[in-house]
Amino acid sequence: MGTNELKAFIRDVPDFPKKGIIFKDITPLLKNPRAFKEAIDALSEHYRHQGVSIVVAAEARGFILGPPVAYHLGAGFVPVRKPGKLPYLCKKAYYQTEYSTDSLEIHEDAVRPGDRVLLLDDVLATGGTMAACCRLVESMGGQVVGCAFLVELTFLGGRKPLEGYDVFSLIQY
Ligand code: AMP
Repeated sequence: MGTNELKAFIRDVPDFPKKGIIFKDITPLLKNPRAFKEAIDALSEHYRHQGVSIVVAAEARGFILGPPVAYHLGAGFVPVRKPGKLPYLCKKAYYQTEYSTDSLEIHEDAVRPGDRVLLLDDVLATGGTMAACCRLVESMGGQVVGCAFLVELTFLGGRKPLEGYDVFSLIQY
């Protein structure tokens, strides 16, 4: 299987989680052994020779893709979570969504100056979530090697807030 065949495993769910949103459901891809392997291998391969020391990903679906990619790269994994979920001292970043301001947290000792960090998520929509993760990593002296996604919704312009970063996606709409 090649990456161009992965699109067939993304399910469109209209009006979820609210009216007007077409949700890109990645669970059919995760369930298919060949598609899941192709996705993880292709994401890992893109960063194989870039000296990634840590993969950082936000809950919930970043937690599914991040660890196997980190394992392949011989890197560590660092979770980014919604406020109040991480047990130790945290750094927080705020970001704008369509109808509210949300925030994300990371453990304050999770990234060290000089760490080469790959950020990963399932879907790039407006880019606000990923931009907040980049700010968290850089506030601790980490170097963002790249921002990687399984799916990119190009019509939402998510690359704009990520200008200056290496943005990579396997599937585009
Ligand atoms: P954004 O910050 O707008 O780029 O939104 C990205 C986050 O929201 C990611 O963690 C995605 O999992 C989720 N997301 C946004 N839009 C969609 C969509 N249409 N389908 C699936 N997930 C989405």
